[in-house]
Amino acid sequence: MDLISSKKKLSKQSKQQSKQQSKQQIKLNSLKNYFEVSNKNILTKVKTYVYVICHDVSKQIKNIQNAHKIKSIPKTFLKTPESDDIRTLYLDDSQIIFYIIGKTQRCDVEHLYYSYGIVGKMISDLENSGKYVIVNLNNQNEDSLSIRNSVISYVLGFYRFIDLKTDVSMEKIPKTYFYTSKIKNKLIIKSAIEEALIQNEVRSLVNLPANILNTETYSKYIQINIPSNLKCKIMNEKDLKKHGFNLILAVNAGSKFEAKMVVLEYNSNKSSGKKEKRSEKISEKGPVVIVGKGVMFDSGGYSIKIGDMSDMKYDMTGSAIVYGLMKMIAESKVEGHFIGLLPLVENMVSSKSIRPGDVVKSYSGKTVEIVDTDAEGRLIIAESMSYAEKWKPSLCIDIATLTGQAVTLFDGKSSILIGTNNTMNQKMIQSGIVNQEKIWELPMWESYLQYTKSNIADYKSYPLESKGQIISAAAFIYNFVPKGSEWIHLDIAGVEEVRYDYETRHNGASGEILRTLYTFLSHLRKPIYANK
Ligand SMILES: [Zn+2]
Repeated sequence: MDLISSKKKLSKQSKQQSKQQSKQQIKLNSLKNYFEVSNKNILTKVKTYVYVICHDVSKQIKNIQNAHKIKSIPKTFLKTPESDDIRTLYLDDSQIIFYIIGKTQRCDVEHLYYSYGIVGKMISDLENSGKYVIVNLNNQNEDSLSIRNSVISYVLGFYRFIDLKTDVSMEKIPKTYFYTSKIKNKLIIKSAIEEALIQNEVRSLVNLPANILNTETYSKYIQINIPSNLKCKIMNEKDLKKHGFNLILAVNAGSKFEAKMVVLEYNSNKSSGKKEKRSEKISEKGPVVIVGKGVMFDSGGYSIKIGDMSDMKYDMTGSAIVYGLMKMIAESKVEGHFIGLLPLVENMVSSKSIRPGDVVKSYSGKTVEIVDTDAEGRLIIAESMSYAEKWKPSLCIDIATLTGQAVTLFDGKSSILIGTNNTMNQKMIQSGIVNQEKIWELPMWESYLQYTKSNIADYKSYPLESKGQIISAAAFIYNFVPKGSEWIHLDIAGVEEVRYDYETRHNGASGEILRTLYTFLSHLRKPIYANK
């Protein structure tokens, strides 16, 4: 990424620097050509072969031995272990890595997802993987979901954030071929690679620090990197003022960058004339609006955060998820009408920042008392919800790293869902299961709305008297959901980040909930994954 064109510019005054940085164009290492499908198992120049083997090791390894014309294999390789084991066989000019699923584990979608994550991460960490790696998918579960999830998990496990490292040589990164002899699997693998690469792009955006990715460079990046069938409109500060998005402007008041609202729109009705009749039925019910919280950095404002803030660049994850999601929807031409709203701000401290206790008139006309300036996410989401009304949506979804309580409740292992329609809620949870992403549902009882009433304004942003911050934050947003629309709220605080390297992933942004949302939206009016 050409972030700064020369070191000299870095040393100049900060104002000038920020001006230059906002003009800079961000390019990410997408590794787009590093993953492919192949129906040739033995390519010349391949150094590393990977086989994930389930249970009956001896028979399968013997088949592999014949295929590779290996004279002898150590006896220890042929024994099925109790728990998962990785064994490497070194040959003259190549190596074969066996990931063996142990007797105590099942060879189901979930465990394959885990195993391929380990393999992907291991390959990206290997010093001697060579230029090409072949991952053989021929001898595993044949159902399409297993194949899809295995490939996705490998590509996600392989990912490392390398864009700001100067010592990574792109030439040394191996290219992976997923081998299958079955034609029907080729398409599944191809689209799995595409899904995973978009998730990795989202992760890179989230991993970029706030001195590089700000509201200006970010909105420009989105504009350049979306497919041509996705409409993009960017409102700048002047537009936001004109329309009266005062809560968004209030949150951003302390930042040196302009607040933005990115509007992404995809309508399958308009992009394909032939399908018009069928799609009309879908759009009769009104489009789906998806809002993603885009706080580039959250210092908390005057209600400043205590302790380490270095992970506060992650506070724009919701918006990056919406960007990735809209891209997936447009690229795979999902039927329906979808609008993505990305309110982009930075919550900073300056003499222009809002104060705790200030009252601001929102886009909806309602007044809001700002109790705690660190409760800023709900404000920009509320404005976006009010704005969504113009499309008369049938469903509004918001995605946000919203509350600290969501992090502690499940220790970053589950997203939290609150919604108005039980069937849709269950479908979202089901979509999560399909993608190995956990979602836990919490209620929105009438009594929680009491918390959002202010003594001096219509609403207050933060109820000091509430101990249930996950729900009271959602309750504030609920007040602004367009009339006639269903609503799903996803608090992803905690799951957006892999805090430490673990078996299947390198640390950093996770991009979690993206594929769940994609599965949900692409199956809005049909059942989720019949296993075929
Ligand atoms: Zn905050």
